[in-house]
Amino acid sequence: MDLKPPNYKFCPFCAAELLQKVVDGKNRKYCPKDNWTYFPHVAGSCSAIVIDRGKVLMVKRNIEPHKGTWMFPSGFINYGEHPKETALRELHEETGLEAKNAELLDILQADDSREPGHFLFIYKIIGFSGELKNQEDENTEVTWVNINSQPTIGWQTHQQVFSKLNTFSPS
Ligand SMILES: [Zn+2]
Repeated sequence: MDLKPPNYKFCPFCAAELLQKVVDGKNRKYCPKDNWTYFPHVAGSCSAIVIDRGKVLMVKRNIEPHKGTWMFPSGFINYGEHPKETALRELHEETGLEAKNAELLDILQADDSREPGHFLFIYKIIGFSGELKNQEDENTEVTWVNINSQPTIGWQTHQQVFSKLNTFSPS
């Protein structure tokens, strides 16, 4: 994916104009007052894949982008959180289900204008309990979807994952 990082001009801490210096052979911007160097980085998000008896758990988006389309329970990683914790937290927040363990299946690079090029960690949930309920305003529905019949999915990365569900073992 060919992406250009944001071209920051001012220090996010003191608003001074950033200067240039060479770090490990690369031009980097820095703030001499805060001793802060700007290393461009990307965000991370996680998806929780729960498979049970030929069905997978999905939510229907109630917000843009891709409002009205289906996706796996997902969200951005909080600072200080391990991606696995993100997957388990999002599963609980969005569906009410609880799980203690998950297995990393894949890492995809997402084409998402909100956080360009961010990494999407795909976790398969291992074992789960609790009662299914839609408890967030960001979704209109939470339901089990037959893994052989792909609904309308907005995010390209989630389409990719759905097409491989047949190769995943049950949760
Ligand atoms: Zn500064």
